[in-house]
Amino acid sequence: MCELYSPVDRRADLRRRVTRWYARAGRDLPWRRTTDPYAVLVSEIMLQQTQVARVLPAYTAFLEHFPTLAALAAAPFGEVLRAWGGLGYPRRARDLHATARAHPRTLPATRDELDTLAGIGRYTAGAVTCFAYGHDEAFADVNIARVLGRVERGDSIPLRQAEALDAQLLPRGNSARWHHALMDLGATVCTARAPRCGECPLNGMCRARAAGVAPSRPRKRAAFATSDRRVRGSILAMLREAPSGLTAAALRGHLQDVRVPRLITALVTEGLVQRVGRLVTLPI
Ligand code: SF4
Repeated sequence: MCELYSPVDRRADLRRRVTRWYARAGRDLPWRRTTDPYAVLVSEIMLQQTQVARVLPAYTAFLEHFPTLAALAAAPFGEVLRAWGGLGYPRRARDLHATARAHPRTLPATRDELDTLAGIGRYTAGAVTCFAYGHDEAFADVNIARVLGRVERGDSIPLRQAEALDAQLLPRGNSARWHHALMDLGATVCTARAPRCGECPLNGMCRARAAGVAPSRPRKRAAFATSDRRVRGSILAMLREAPSGLTAAALRGHLQDVRVPRLITALVTEGLVQRVGRLVTLPI
């Protein structure tokens, strides 16, 4: 591809295209209308493994139930787990609750401090400090890595490389909108399997498109792990409907699955369910 402008001009052009597109076509999501660090953290934790469409109702309901860190910290864990509902990956609820109990008034405001908390990795810590505190933090999820990688390097790149690239490109003082825009581009236009280059604001400068963009390979999922997760979710769903608990035999009978006893033991170890005599219940 013939580069007609300098690297500095190219960066400025990229920023301009991204932010203009976002003003026109970006998604209006409730967690983007707040800078409350707690609400931003709830959204980021929920979005870690769950798609936006499922997070939307869960996010609103969770914040209605626990509007502040203090309210979440004061609640028994069983109530938090019930409010988490069918969102899956309930360890996220446990870690969020632990964070609220450790910091019931206000969350730490630096990426390094947030990064030390349970369930909060480098990406989430960067996203919260950027979206809530307005820091110009570089970070990349798979969508950002795909968009920046394709435009600048001709193909998707690993997250660490994408974060380094993001650090060079992000517009200082406007990095929240920048990251929201890249996420939206990756989720709606520059998708892994079927990028819609004809509708993309970056198509005139994209190196992947110039080279003939190849769809990303689908990530392989571990079939057994996925299946375990489904059964764990079913156990928790049944216990939500049975406040006084169920026996392991009853759970196994209902679910018709030999893994139930092993998965109950794992859930007890993780603190997500408890045994009370012969009964298995959600934590009180
Ligand atoms: S032009 Fe195509 S490959 Fe390049 S960023 Fe846009 S959608 Fe992705």
